[in-house]
Amino acid sequence: MIDLHPIIQRTRDLLSQDTDASVTYAALEARLALEKVCYDRLRQCHDYISHSDLKKWQPNQIVNTLISEVDQHATETRTLSISRQPALEGIEPNDDDYVEIGTEVGFDPKLIGKLWNALARLALHVRIPEHREDQISDYGDRDQIKAKVIEALAELERLSGTTMTFSGIGEEVSFTCRCGTRNKRRASLLRNKQSVSCINPECKASWTAHKVGAEFTFEAHTASVTCDKCQSDNLMPWRLVAALQYEQTGSFSCHNCNHKNYFQWRLTQVRPQSA
Ligand SMILES: [Zn+2]
Ligand SMILES: [Zn+2]
Repeated sequence: MIDLHPIIQRTRDLLSQDTDASVTYAALEARLALEKVCYDRLRQCHDYISHSDLKKWQPNQIVNTLISEVDQHATETRTLSISRQPALEGIEPNDDDYVEIGTEVGFDPKLIGKLWNALARLALHVRIPEHREDQISDYGDRDQIKAKVIEALAELERLSGTTMTFSGIGEEVSFTCRCGTRNKRRASLLRNKQSVSCINPECKASWTAHKVGAEFTFEAHTASVTCDKCQSDNLMPWRLVAALQYEQTGSFSCHNCNHKNYFQWRLTQVRPQSA
């Protein structure tokens, strides 16, 4: 877990120096801290989500993905406590029988996104000249940058109250990929026909979740190519094939006869089914 306190202190020190340069560096520190705190939460959840399934890398989008895929309660502040006594059926333990284990401060992805964008706009880009006489300034507007850094610091202070992290609560479903990695998902957030990539960054396999009643099964998402020599079907990970550019040629050795085969994407004319 990231300790935000030294970053907050460093940012405050830079602000108090109150020069155009130091205030700009303070904005950079604050912006990096927003990224770090979001990415750290992602790191904690990586058992539940593959890096390949992240469509966007901006901190607020990362948090949005975590909310929709791993933990729908990530926006809420939660405190975990455990009872000093073992639980007995039918007996409600007293409130003072609980010990606090830790707190996770909830994320507001919208606020984080706004601060992160505003810091860059005000402090980390040079203004584009509008005409020939327009001078290129060294830095942005000091007062505006300061105000935004102070806003970001307030949010970072709030987030620094986190003493533990959850990866969500709820029923888990899991399957073991061909590469041997066990993949876990929160059942309540998994959709029928959802495609999930293996969490192992070295593995190209992806799986389609099928919901039958309350149960999930996982089917490997593959493309089948027939061997040119022995006509055997060869199954390839879909993500590997999908990543191939149109003019690129892929190859594989047949699992049956070891013949080297080549393949490429082709454009095919189609007719609409209905009408
Ligand atoms: Zn795998
Ligand atoms: Zn073959």
